Amino acid sequence: MRTAAAITAAAARIGGDTARLDAEVLLAHQLGCSRGELLLNPDRMIEPQAFEALVARRAAGEPVAHITGIREFWSLTLKVNADVLVPRPDSETLIDVALKLCTRPPARILDLGTGSGALLLAALAEWPSASGLGIDASPAALKVAHANALATGMADRAALQLGDWGDGMVERFDLILSNPPYIAEYEVISPDVRDHEPASALFAGVDGLDDYRRILPQLAGLLSPGGLACVEIGSTQGPALLAMAAEHGLAASIHPDLGGRDRCVALRVAPIQPPA
Ligand code: GLN
Repeated sequence: MRTAAAITAAAARIGGDTARLDAEVLLAHQLGCSRGELLLNPDRMIEPQAFEALVARRAAGEPVAHITGIREFWSLTLKVNADVLVPRPDSETLIDVALKLCTRPPARILDLGTGSGALLLAALAEWPSASGLGIDASPAALKVAHANALATGMADRAALQLGDWGDGMVERFDLILSNPPYIAEYEVISPDVRDHEPASALFAGVDGLDDYRRILPQLAGLLSPGGLACVEIGSTQGPALLAMAAEHGLAASIHPDLGGRDRCVALRVAPIQPPA
């Protein structure tokens, strides 16, 4: 069978918005080549059996990144498995905003709920003289983050530690990144995500804000003078985050993702108001 025909048949079986892309990524993975190389050789002959097994897994809802074991994030190729959230392009918004708003290169970077290490490692790649700390409550996730720190050559700059958000932490950081769970418990989400990604990284109480109720009060004590925090939110949560930020002495701004949805809240310690 030729690759072009195999992709068309697989896409029809997979279905959904990303069917063709999924089929291409899976076939490239199967053949050990890049997607670009695959598309440049539509007439290459292949044995479809092994590819069909991958297509069957995707058609049953397993995320492409779990089948290939990798996902591109920012400039990095990261290892992923079912113990971590698959890094999403949405989260790249946080790196974009940090690059825009950091007035000088951060020396120390903290990633709260690091998962695969995606945000921490992307930031360390952008600021080669920085070092950082990734915190996660899941030992299994920290294993993935550690493998990624090694694979991207940044293990000497990326410490990884078991923890419960910023509890017990005394150090202060110039840049804090976080993509905590923020989906409301009863929100209907894609079965591919619900059935395959870790619930503990997705859901945060009835309004999705439980973890923000833990994190926001800690930020002022974790930021160094002039420091910046960039956190990911669900597209309707901006106003709630702004209200919470004000309660905890933080100045906040909301930033959209590439799809135009509110995705990142940037926070700094608010200047002390002179008495009226
Ligand atoms: N943005 C992710 C999703 O839509 C959720 C990430 C999160 O809860 N932190 O599945």
